[in-house]
Amino acid sequence: MLKVEGLWKTYTVDGGEIPAVRGVDFTVETGEFFTLLGPSGCGKSTTLRCIAGLEVPNSAEITLGEIDLFSSRQRRSVPIHKRNIGMVFQSYAIWPHMSVYDNVDFPLKVKGVPDRREKVMRALELVGLHHLEDRSATNLSGGQQQRVAIARAIVMDVDLLLFDEPLSNLDSKLRIQMRFELRQLQKQLGITSIYVTHDQEEAMVLSDRVAVMDDGNIVEIGKSQDIYLEPRKLFTAKFVGQSNLLLGEVVSADGANATVKTAIGQIAIETHKSTAPSEGFLMIRPEHIPMSWTKEDLPSADVNVFEGTIVSETFTGKLMDYRIRVGEVTFEVQTPLRHALQNENRVFIHLPPERCVMLPKDTSGIS
Ligand code: ADP
Ligand code: MG
Repeated sequence: MLKVEGLWKTYTVDGGEIPAVRGVDFTVETGEFFTLLGPSGCGKSTTLRCIAGLEVPNSAEITLGEIDLFSSRQRRSVPIHKRNIGMVFQSYAIWPHMSVYDNVDFPLKVKGVPDRREKVMRALELVGLHHLEDRSATNLSGGQQQRVAIARAIVMDVDLLLFDEPLSNLDSKLRIQMRFELRQLQKQLGITSIYVTHDQEEAMVLSDRVAVMDDGNIVEIGKSQDIYLEPRKLFTAKFVGQSNLLLGEVVSADGANATVKTAIGQIAIETHKSTAPSEGFLMIRPEHIPMSWTKEDLPSADVNVFEGTIVSETFTGKLMDYRIRVGEVTFEVQTPLRHALQNENRVFIHLPPERCVMLPKDTSGIS
């Protein structure tokens, strides 16, 4: 288990101190795949580099299992080469003048580990490169180079794997395939892993849990599904996926059912969490809004049906993106079907109560 408490890190820029990470706390369970997700510059890499020992925190308590990797309290810091951690970066960072085999063998050789060949070949097999052991690392594709880097990170029996946007330099098709492979590999090996990315889809696919970061802070931590379907913070709703947000106020509540007053009228919602605020933003994802030409065609829509006008439609390949104007509010709606335009673009949309989430107005100034 990895525990990070009160991690602060500032950089000196032009004589001034700029905070990059402002008191971050989290715990990663043994065998868990944990992701730091957030926009560029929010402090993800700095957090990871402090855990690896590549940066020195201003203050923190970082423990891995029984070992204090870094402790301000005890004035202790385990040097980087003594931390049993593997790391994979965005740039492949493999040695071009060496063969595939020698690249992976390198960390074992430095430490004088016995039975090296067996270990190197096992690692290469795990990433599907055993047939290329003699190939010079320069003669590899980007995906293959990154596999070498992964094999090199797992060849030692590490306690923790750190990934800093390792798939960002690959083309989109390969990125999707490698996501899947990486997840399989991590499950198979059961190594506790922390992954850094700004790509929310990647975070969803790979992770057991996700920590959403902004401006040096962790905004919220949750299971991938919960972060997407039931975010608790406005920043999460905006950053992870697309969302429709309507200012609203709860006017009545009865157990899990509540009614929210909004600019387009009253909307019935099911409150999923006891912490739902009485005032804030009602959120619904574009793909959770059914639409139709007639009211009758909307399945199980006894409440929350609104008449609107199609403002635009965009073909995205997978889905149709519609912008639907209801009163003063424009909804984004995604459907797998193309709704051939007719009836002067008049449509009905349904906001299923169980898909509506109440979020607090942002008090941190993040939005
Ligand atoms: P992320 O990985 O989320 O994109 P980083 O951790 O790399 O973010 O950076 C967080 C903040 O710290 C940014 O504002 C960045 O400009 C700054 N920063 C990162 N590394 C350095 C450095 N070596 N020197 C000065 N500022 C840095
Ligand atoms: Mg980064």
